[in-house]
Amino acid sequence: MTLLSARSLRAVQRIKYEIRAAAGFGIAAVRAIEMPSEKAKENKTLIAICVACSKAVSTESMVSLLGREQDKYKQFDVCVQCANAGWRPPEFEGIYTPRPG
Ligand SMILES: [Zn+2]
Repeated sequence: MTLLSARSLRAVQRIKYEIRAAAGFGIAAVRAIEMPSEKAKENKTLIAICVACSKAVSTESMVSLLGREQDKYKQFDVCVQCANAGWRPPEFEGIYTPRPG
C-alpha cells in the first residue's frame, strides 16, 4: 500500500464517520444551522433613509407623510426629528401631530 492510498483510505474512513455522526445528530445539526438565521430575524431592525436629512433611521422612529411627486401621491418617510422640526413633503396633505422621537 502506498502512502497516498493509505491517506485516501483514512480520508474515506473519516468521511464515513462524519456521515454517521451527522446522521446521528441530524436534528441537532439542523437546529444549529437554523438557529442563527432565526436569531437574525428577531434581531433585525428595520432601517429606512429619512428623505429630509438622508440619515438611516429605525423605522420605529419614522413617520410617513403623504405628499405628491409629479402629480402622484407618494408616501415620504421622514424621521420624527425632521417631522417635528417642520419638514413636510411637497403638497403635503393631512395633519402631522408632533410626537416624541
Ligand atoms: Zn430626518
